[in-house]
Amino acid sequence: SSENVVAVVTGSNRGIGLEIARQLASHGLTLVLTARNVDAGLEAVTSLSLQQGLKVDFHQLDVTDASSIKEFGCWIKQTFGGLDILVNNAGVNYNLGSDNSVEFAETVVSTNYHGTKNMIKAMIPLMRPSPQGARIVNVSSRLGRVYGRRNVSKLLSLLLSLSFSFRLILHMLLQRLANVELRDQLSNPDSLTEELLDRTVSTFIEQVKDGTWESGGWPQTFTDYSISKLAVNAYTRMIAKELSTRQEGEKIYVNSFCPGWVKTAMTGFAGNMSPEDAADTGVWLSLVLSEEAVTGKFFAERREINF
Ligand code: NDP
Repeated sequence: SSENVVAVVTGSNRGIGLEIARQLASHGLTLVLTARNVDAGLEAVTSLSLQQGLKVDFHQLDVTDASSIKEFGCWIKQTFGGLDILVNNAGVNYNLGSDNSVEFAETVVSTNYHGTKNMIKAMIPLMRPSPQGARIVNVSSRLGRVYGRRNVSKLLSLLLSLSFSFRLILHMLLQRLANVELRDQLSNPDSLTEELLDRTVSTFIEQVKDGTWESGGWPQTFTDYSISKLAVNAYTRMIAKELSTRQEGEKIYVNSFCPGWVKTAMTGFAGNMSPEDAADTGVWLSLVLSEEAVTGKFFAERREINF
């Protein structure tokens, strides 16, 4: 029955993560809400219980802290024997334009990219075999696309329909990775390795430190954030390919999605989407039947989009 399905959502004390947790719990799964801050996490647990009558489990989890991840893994093993669904939602963004401070760039990369990657590595051995297949869903962003949007008519119709956040969304749609060599390496399944991704993000950090990042061919807006999500998307493809050789019954499907521009703390509650609608694709990817499940893909609004 569905309560035997164990789902974990990182950074689920607020925003899109809380909403994904709420929706998954409403489906009757065993939902583990996690937060780096215990008080914030317990407050979210209480609000789900009082306002929605939902019972969820809780454990502390800071995705940038190796010992926290380790302890969390031990607890999952002891309490449930393993997990079936992992939603990597925890993320930060301090960048409101094209500025990059060393501290912010380091935190963004270590949370969004390394945090997601380290959670995946730690949880894979705990993911339980099932006919349905285990799921990993990474909350990413269109800002992390390697090529940007290629469909011009879609772009125009979208721009015409927009009344606000104009400059931002224009950037989001048009920005692409100008570093052609890196773009080629990321697009080639044979050269796409964890080592390449680690090297790419650390090269960027080094360039922020020595003040040369602007000539590095990186995305021009939300640079540190875009690079972190680009790495998440590339890692999604890489790890999905690695796991795709698993036999039936031991499958793990890994996908990422862009929730859109969402009214949460991250955007100062601007944006044009509610957390409820933003969570939808993540919940769908977590629960979609194995017959329809794909792996190593990037989604928005339940549709596959290009990386
Ligand atoms: P919020 O800032 O509301 O939520 C972010 C969550 O991540 C918080 O619960 C936060 O915890 C948690 N978090 C941050 N760092 C860590 C950490 N080291 N360990 C564990 N948890 C951590 O933002 P959103 O809900 O908007 O963001 C959720 C995801 O959606 C992020 O990955 C974001 O990049 C992505 N996204 C959001 C978009 C938007 O428009 N809002 C657009 C595209 C992608 P705490 O409360 O302690 O800070």
